[in-house]
Amino acid sequence: MWGHVSLRGSGATKQSPPLLAIEDGRLLRYTRNDIIRSLPIDKTDSILYNVAQFVLFRSGHPKEETMAETTTQRHLNKAYDCVVIGAGNGGLSAAAQLAAKGARVLLLEQHSLPGGFATSFVRGRFEFEAALHAFCDIGSPTFKGAVRTFLEDELGIYLDWVEIPEAYRLILTDPGEDLDVTMPYGVHDFITAIEKAAPGSRESVTNYVNLCKEVLEAITYIGQSKGHPNRSVLTKQYANFLKTCPYTMDQVADALKIPERARKILHAQWTYLGPPTSRLNFTVYGAMFYLFLITSAYIPRQRSHEFALALDARIRELGGHVEYNTRVEKVLARNGRVVGVATSKGDQIETGHVISNASPTLVYNHLVSPKTEVPEIALRQCNARVNGVSSVVVYLGLDATLEELGLHEYSYFVYANMNTDEMYETCKTLDAPKIQAVLCLNNALPDCSPPGTSIVSITTLYRPEVWKNVAPQDYVRVKNKVASDLIAHFEQATGAPIREHIEEFEVATPQTFARYTGSYNGIIYGYEPEPWDSLMPRMMMMQDDKHLDGLEFCGGFGFRCHGYSSSVKSGQTIALITWRDMLALSEANVMEKGEVQQ
Ligand SMILES: Cc1cc2nc3c(=O)[nH]c(=O)nc-3n(C[C@H](O)[C@H](O)[C@H](O)COP(=O)(O)OP(=O)(O)OC[C@H]3O[C@@H](n4cnc5c(N)ncnc54)[C@H](O)[C@@H]3O)c2cc1C
Repeated sequence: MWGHVSLRGSGATKQSPPLLAIEDGRLLRYTRNDIIRSLPIDKTDSILYNVAQFVLFRSGHPKEETMAETTTQRHLNKAYDCVVIGAGNGGLSAAAQLAAKGARVLLLEQHSLPGGFATSFVRGRFEFEAALHAFCDIGSPTFKGAVRTFLEDELGIYLDWVEIPEAYRLILTDPGEDLDVTMPYGVHDFITAIEKAAPGSRESVTNYVNLCKEVLEAITYIGQSKGHPNRSVLTKQYANFLKTCPYTMDQVADALKIPERARKILHAQWTYLGPPTSRLNFTVYGAMFYLFLITSAYIPRQRSHEFALALDARIRELGGHVEYNTRVEKVLARNGRVVGVATSKGDQIETGHVISNASPTLVYNHLVSPKTEVPEIALRQCNARVNGVSSVVVYLGLDATLEELGLHEYSYFVYANMNTDEMYETCKTLDAPKIQAVLCLNNALPDCSPPGTSIVSITTLYRPEVWKNVAPQDYVRVKNKVASDLIAHFEQATGAPIREHIEEFEVATPQTFARYTGSYNGIIYGYEPEPWDSLMPRMMMMQDDKHLDGLEFCGGFGFRCHGYSSSVKSGQTIALITWRDMLALSEANVMEKGEVQQ
C-alpha cells in the first residue's frame, strides 16, 4: 500500500530544500510548506527543459542532481500529476497513456476489479462476458484500427483478438414483417448482401456507404488537426460531412432515398447507440457503421476482463499506481482549479489534474467540493443532456451446443419491427422490450465453454428511470418475468429450444449495473447522441465545456460518446490533452520561479 499525501502537508525537513531539481526526467518543485510537486519534464521539449536548467543554474543548485536529504520525504509525501477517477475503459486508457508519457498517475476505482462494464463473471461451469458484443476499431494486425494501434504501438499491449464471424443477423418478428437477413462485414460484401435482400437498393446504399466513409475520414482529419482543422480543407474535401452533421439518421436516409427495406437493414445497429433513428445523430452512427464495415469487429479471447487486466498491468509496469475499493468522494477545487481529491478511505491526495471516468452529472452534482466551485453553466449543461439507456441482460449457460440448437450466427438483432420510435417506447415500461441483441459466444470462441455446452446472452434496453420504481419485494419476480419473456421472444424468432437447455441462468438489471459501476440508475451508455449533443458538437465545444481548470472527462459520457472503442479513444485523447496542459503548467511555474530567483 502506498502512502497518500495530505493536502495540509507534513514532515517538513529541517534544511531549506532547493526550489527545483530535475531527476529521472521529472521536475521536482519544493513549495514553502515542503510539499513536493513533481511534474513531468520532457527533455525533447527543449524550451521547458532549458528553462528549468537555467533556473537551477541561476539559483545555485546543481543540475539534475538527486537531493539525498529529500528522498525520504518525497516518498512520504506523494503527490500526483493526475488522478484518474474510475477504471472503466476510458479511465484505464487515460491512466495508461499518461503513465506511458512518464506522468505520475494514480487511478482510483471504487470496485474491486478494473473494467467497469467491461468485465466477466463465472457461474458454475461458465465464464460469461458481461457486456461486449463487438469491439469496433481493433482491425487486423495488418490493417490496424485506432484502438489496436494505441494498444500495441503506444502501450505495448498485445492481446489475442478474435474476429467475429459476421456483422449481424437481423430478424423482425411482428406479423407481416418478413425480414431475416445475415449481413457480412466488408464494403463490397455488405452492399452485395443488401442488394440481394432489398433488390434495387444498390445505388442509394452505395451513396450511403460513401457518405459514411467521408464522415469517418473527416473525423479522423479533425482529430489529426488537434482541434484546428483547416476550414478550406473541410469545405472542399468533406462538404457532405459538414452538410449532414446536424441531421438524424432518418433525415439522411430520407435525403438519400434509401428504400424502406434496405433502410431497416442499414439501421439495425441503432441499439448500439440508444436513441431511435429519428433522434440519433447520423454522424456518430455513420462513423461507427463504416468502421465496422472496414475493420470488422473483434473480442478478446478471454473476455473483457482480459482486456481490463492487461491495461491495469501495463499501467503498473509504466510506473502508475492503481487502487481498488477506493471511491473518490470529493474533487477538491480552489479558485476555479482542481487541487486534489478526497477518497472513501479518508485520504486527501494533491493533484492539479483529474480525469473522470464518472459522468459530469455525478462529478458536478456530488463530487466537486466546495459546491461554490461548481459554475452554474456546468449544472445547466448536465441538466440539458439526455441520459442514455440502461439494460437487462439474461446470461444463459446451456447444456447443448449452438449447432444442436440451430444457432449459427454470433450476433442476432431480434426486433418486433424497425419503427425505432415505437421500439424505444417499449423500453419505458417494465414489460420486456421488443428489442434484443443476442450474443452466441461459441460461434466466435468455440471453446469458451465446456464441450457439449454453449453460452448465449440476451441484452435489451430500458430507460433508466423505469426500474427505480420496482419495490424490493417485487424485484426477483419482475426480473425473472422480463428474462422469461426475452427468452420466449428469441425462441420464437429463431426456433431454438433455449429454455429446456438452461443449466446456468443469471440476470443483470439496471440495479446490477448501478451497483457495480456506480452509474446513475444503471445507465450503461453515456448521454444520448442527438444531433445537438453528438460527437461533432462535443468536439467543437471541448474548450468551452471546461468548467474547472484541470478537470477533464473520458469514457462513455465523454466527447466521443459511448461504446468500447469510443471510451478507449476518449481516454487516450483526454490523457494527451492533460499531458499537454501539465507541461504548459510546469513551464509556467518554472518561468514564475525563474523570475523570483532573479
Ligand atoms: C450489457 C452491455 C453490452 C454492451 N455492449 C457493447 C458492445 O458490444 N460494444 C461496445 O462498444 N459497447 C458496448 N457496451 C457499452 C460499453 O460497455 C460502455 O460504453 C463502455 O464500457 C463505457 O466505458 P467507460 O469508460 O465509460 O467506463 P465505465 O464502464 O462506465 O466505468 C466507469 C468506472 O468508474 C468507476 N467509478 C465511478 N465513480 C467512481 C468514483 N467516484 N470513484 C472511483 N471509481 C468510480 C466505476 O466503478 C467504473 O468502474 C455495452 C454495455 C453493456 C452494459
